[in-house]
Amino acid sequence: MDAMIQVRDLRKTYRMGDIDVPALRGVSFDIRRGEFVAIMGPSGSGKSTLMNLLGCLDTPSGGQYLLDGLPVDQLDRNLLAAVRNRKIGFVFQQFNLLARQTALENVALPLVYLGGVPAEERMARAREMLELVGLGDRMQHHPKELSGGQQQRVAIARALITRPALLLADEPTGNLDSHSSTEIMALFEELNQQGITVVLVTHEADIAAHARRVLMVHDGLLDRDAPTQQRSLNGPAPAADRERPRRRPSIVRRPSFASKRRSLSTTQG
Ligand code: ADP
Repeated sequence: MDAMIQVRDLRKTYRMGDIDVPALRGVSFDIRRGEFVAIMGPSGSGKSTLMNLLGCLDTPSGGQYLLDGLPVDQLDRNLLAAVRNRKIGFVFQQFNLLARQTALENVALPLVYLGGVPAEERMARAREMLELVGLGDRMQHHPKELSGGQQQRVAIARALITRPALLLADEPTGNLDSHSSTEIMALFEELNQQGITVVLVTHEADIAAHARRVLMVHDGLLDRDAPTQQRSLNGPAPAADRERPRRRPSIVRRPSFASKRRSLSTTQG
């Protein structure tokens, strides 16, 4: 199996004074490359804790976690940060854009942190990503000049610019109206159809229905792991969906980001 995520008996216990708070009590699952998975569960069930561990933002108290074959549960915080920067793109409920920077500058920012990418290439890649999310005509806008849905598109473009292996989204439609939510989920579906692995946390069944599989967390344990009856609000049923012409040119011409790297450097977006 071409696993992107392999989690075995993953545990997280928070310490609050003298009290141990077991937030994750041993969960095991795999997510294959190219999957689109929603993590659901009631408030306090451990979704954010799991997301933080999957995103290498925190270290587990026990268990194993292989990310793209790397045993990240064994890495110290510095290495974890390096893996996080290279392998994972994050999308949050709050778009977390810098107010004084244009859409283009916001999208290019992760490449500044990554280092080693010349300014010209940073801008070229940022333009390409904004085209990809349908904002080719909003590059010089500042966040306050964009709608919520557009700001989330900028955030998605920013998450993708490092060509991550995995896109993690935590309640990405939590701040959006239903129309914008539908558009953002259609974008995630489109990106997933281009080969990007997407894992998102949501408490809304409507949003989770865009994924292909739902992991249900309850009281720190995996309660259910089942495929969704996928229904795309963007078009017809999944099989036909794949054959439908894309609204925007695909940048992911091959199954993985590793191979995409080469194609990106030789194509004009
Ligand atoms: P969810 O995202 O599903 O709402 P969380 O992962 O945030 O759930 O929380 C799971 C449990 O862990 C809850 O009981 C919560 O109170 C507790 N918890 C989460 N973060 C911390 C923390 N930093 N310190 C102590 N307890 C925490």
